[in-house]
Amino acid sequence: MGHTQIWWIRRDIRLQDNQTLDAARQNADFLIPLFIIEPELMQQAAPKRRDFILAALADLDRQLRDLGSRLIVRQGPAQQALQALSTQLGEISLFAHEDYSPFARQRDLNVSQFFPIHHPEGVTLRHPSAILKDDGNPYTVFTPYKNKWYESPIPTPADCLPAPNSLPPLPQGLDAGQLPEAQASEHFPATSDEAQSRLQTFADDGIQRYQSLRDRMDLDGTSRLSPYLRFGLISIREAFVEAQIAYHQSKTTKQRSEIRTWMDELVWREFYTAILYHFPNVMRGAFREKYQNIQWRNAPDDLQAWQDGKTGYPFVDACMRQLAHTGWMHNRGRMIAASFLTKDLLINWQEGEAWFMANLVDGDPAANNGGWQWSAGTGTDAAPYFRIFNPVLQGQKYDPEGDYIAHWVPELKHLPVKFRHEPWKIDPAEAKKYGFKYGSDYPKQIVDHKFARQRTLKAYSEAKDSFFENQEG
Ligand SMILES: Cc1cc2nc3c(=O)[nH]c(=O)nc-3n(C[C@H](O)[C@H](O)[C@H](O)COP(=O)(O)OP(=O)(O)OC[C@H]3O[C@@H](n4cnc5c(N)ncnc54)[C@H](O)[C@@H]3O)c2cc1C
Repeated sequence: MGHTQIWWIRRDIRLQDNQTLDAARQNADFLIPLFIIEPELMQQAAPKRRDFILAALADLDRQLRDLGSRLIVRQGPAQQALQALSTQLGEISLFAHEDYSPFARQRDLNVSQFFPIHHPEGVTLRHPSAILKDDGNPYTVFTPYKNKWYESPIPTPADCLPAPNSLPPLPQGLDAGQLPEAQASEHFPATSDEAQSRLQTFADDGIQRYQSLRDRMDLDGTSRLSPYLRFGLISIREAFVEAQIAYHQSKTTKQRSEIRTWMDELVWREFYTAILYHFPNVMRGAFREKYQNIQWRNAPDDLQAWQDGKTGYPFVDACMRQLAHTGWMHNRGRMIAASFLTKDLLINWQEGEAWFMANLVDGDPAANNGGWQWSAGTGTDAAPYFRIFNPVLQGQKYDPEGDYIAHWVPELKHLPVKFRHEPWKIDPAEAKKYGFKYGSDYPKQIVDHKFARQRTLKAYSEAKDSFFENQEG
């Protein structure tokens, strides 16, 4: 019997530029492209995220079959699935790219007690431990992290690995297992062709205007690559390489700055991955201890209204409905929706973090936790707590014609723009003209923003004072 090597697929659902696949196929008599359906992950994953992963795997299977191989599927827990394979096949070598979330690290630690894991990199461009302060400690503030990050070179196209045009065969007599059926998404088709074409289209065009348009909720100003990066349908290296090509080809300082802003977003992704790697406790509470004991409200009805997109604030409701419908929300929307939950409703950011994870197609513990802690003012680089977004002004600024609202909150679409943003201001007689009844066609505001702002400032400052009192005492 020859030597069997396993490419254990996790967040690298692709053939091209895959360091793990590349390592696993070297010197292999047999190669098993393996996906393990782990109960913890699949049960907890948002349905849209689960469907995305399964559809991406089905697409990968098609590509593997073109190369005379196929995807092998097993049910988890991982350790048991691997043990069963090794009982059947004899000695196996395991290749899986290193993943940095607390769940992944614990799982890999457990598995490695039985099978050494070869751990090529690839989830991020730079390993979380590669970017440290001069004293060896991790960064906790983005800008110095980013400056250090850019000190090392960005890869070139020659650094990316082509997709293999042949693969070692599967061992004889191996049952392929079965992928559960997945519902295809019209918003995020989970194929590698789609991932490549999104990246190309964006790098050829949208990236040149990214900085100027990325906050506009009514326009398509961002790449919408997040689920593809999350599950590795394209590699993070490919994303940086394409951005770098566009950067070098650009003719003006302005264009370069637009492109650099997009690259910075990819660096945010690396930063939050590193934060979770070095400070896994952020999954359990505030990064800044002084905000550990904010007196959050227990307000299930308000939480429900936020989840349902029925807060009576059209911009917030549009964001929440977009999330429910598509599994994705614009970054500006995520900030506004998160600010509204934490600052206007004074509900614990962890409720929001969980809701986002339960719904996002790109749900990622590091970026999601980072985004929530930033919004709540409790995180590493967080906005100061007294900076509280006004959900109406934000809407007027980033959705000036109210088109985004009209799309997601159609009960307001017949109203003139100013009332789409503030339906409470419409005179009932005028409302009648549009066949609209405020309070029944669309809910009244569940909280007054000005009042909420004061309530939040008080709660945060009390938490801070009591923390320092306890420290002194
Ligand atoms: C409260 C909150 C929760 C969030 N939760 C997630 C999440 O679960 N998963 C996720 O991928 N992003 C999350 N983000 C970050 C960001 O909103 C999304 O990455 C972005 O909206 C995805 O759209 P895009 O692909 O068009 O992004 P683009 O603007 O085109 O950015 C390109 C890529 O950079 C990365 N990126 C961009 N912004 C950030 C950021 N602030 N932090 C980390 N990575 C970033 C993403 O991989 C994104 O695809 C969250 C932000 C907030 C404020």
